Amino acid sequence: MIPISIHKIITVCKGKMILEGTKDQVNEISTDTRKMKEESLFVPLIGAFFDGHQFILQAMERGAIGALVQKGQEFPLGKLNDFYVIEVEDTLQALKEIGRHYRQNSNIPFIGVTGSTGKTTTKDMIAGILETNFNVLKNEGNLNNQIGLPLTLFNLEPCHEIGVLEMGMNSLGEILSLAKTVQPHIAVITNVGFSHIEHLGSQENILTAKMEITTRLREKDYLLINGDDPFLKTVKEESKTYRIITFGIDPSNDIYAENLVCLGEVGYRFDVMIQKKKHTFQVRQPGIHNVYNGLVALWVGLHYQMTPLAIQKGFDRLELSKMRLEIVTYGDVKVINDAYNASPDSMKAAITVLNQSTGIRKIAILGDILEMGSFAEEGHRRIGSFIATSPVDYLITVGKSAQWIAREAVEQGFSQAHIYQTPSNDLAIKVLKTLLSPRDVVLVKGSRGMKMEEIVNFIQERS
Ligand code: ATP
Ligand code: MG
Repeated sequence: MIPISIHKIITVCKGKMILEGTKDQVNEISTDTRKMKEESLFVPLIGAFFDGHQFILQAMERGAIGALVQKGQEFPLGKLNDFYVIEVEDTLQALKEIGRHYRQNSNIPFIGVTGSTGKTTTKDMIAGILETNFNVLKNEGNLNNQIGLPLTLFNLEPCHEIGVLEMGMNSLGEILSLAKTVQPHIAVITNVGFSHIEHLGSQENILTAKMEITTRLREKDYLLINGDDPFLKTVKEESKTYRIITFGIDPSNDIYAENLVCLGEVGYRFDVMIQKKKHTFQVRQPGIHNVYNGLVALWVGLHYQMTPLAIQKGFDRLELSKMRLEIVTYGDVKVINDAYNASPDSMKAAITVLNQSTGIRKIAILGDILEMGSFAEEGHRRIGSFIATSPVDYLITVGKSAQWIAREAVEQGFSQAHIYQTPSNDLAIKVLKTLLSPRDVVLVKGSRGMKMEEIVNFIQERS
């Protein structure tokens, strides 16, 4: 991070100094005293289960030069010395303001990625391609929210040439706030699915929330949208100041993949017309959804004057974030580890990868998809219906809502004798102990709260 003076920070977040220190330069902004470096500014956040203000003394002891404090919050002022204390209305808001200020000091282009599923994968793919030619700033893992995004921005250094940032949300207004902070030049919306429908109520509202990413697009900036998505298809260029590029498989899209060849676990090969010439590419991650994610990365690479050869080099070297359709062989069993998270769309995408995999028996272990509100039953039933038409041999469900998957699958003809409904990972593991046999391929997927990696760990340990 490029140092910022404490006085600049006071101005940016409209703070009031209530205790003065001596060191004036902030070299790091931190919200976690456990990971704190010397000469940091500590920003205590208030969460559902914790209040960062109780760690202010610890921050000082670990070498922070000062802290923000939220008006009305308690903290041990009397025990602090040679330490700046700056009072603000809201510490999270202040963190975002400082992030915005820090970003504005740089004039590199930024690419913002949102959408219901595939944000991290698309961000990693864009960054992976660009890294062949550029020095790229990107969020690590899934640091995509109101806290993670400003913290990512503080990693911006003079050496960076392009920023690629994932933007996540739970409710209306959050992408708007992130877009104001990042001010992207290229905005990407991967798709409009069902994630967070509990808070947003309908897919129309989800589209509205995702479109907030365009708030700060200037003339000549771009919005990239999946033109095969029924909701994104309705977004039209008329009356917009920015340009819209659609991507997909349908030839009506501005950039589209044709002559697709499914290579199973090693991805897809496809052709793309670039300036009236056909070029062949291969994404090395499985699932047709990765062709969509790859098309975004490809367009961005071309936009920044990369050659098709350099872009393919990027695809070849790409490593995605963990637990996202990671295919690993443990002993005699192959695991498709997609335990990071789940939505109905991503679960379908993962089952498609299981369907295309090689293995004697295909076992789907599917846990609850959380945060679905009143859509929970329908969302899980859609998966059950998909399972019934898939070449899956065994279905193990984990959790309460996942029982709807089993119920719908049976109603649509899936053999009841090949289904195990379990309430927990432990009991699913018990089933696996007797069920697993050599050359099985096992898909493990569920929402983050289901911690389904416990099942993957079991398979790994037994090998
Ligand atoms: P989160 O909201 O948790 O940040 P995300 O949008 O970042 O999720 P990823 O982590 O990239 O999504 O992908 C999660 C899973 O979604 C993948 O492992 C894969 O199963 C599936 N997936 C990835 N890309 C797509 C896509 N374009 N369409 C549908 N499913 C996808
Ligand atoms: Mg993500």
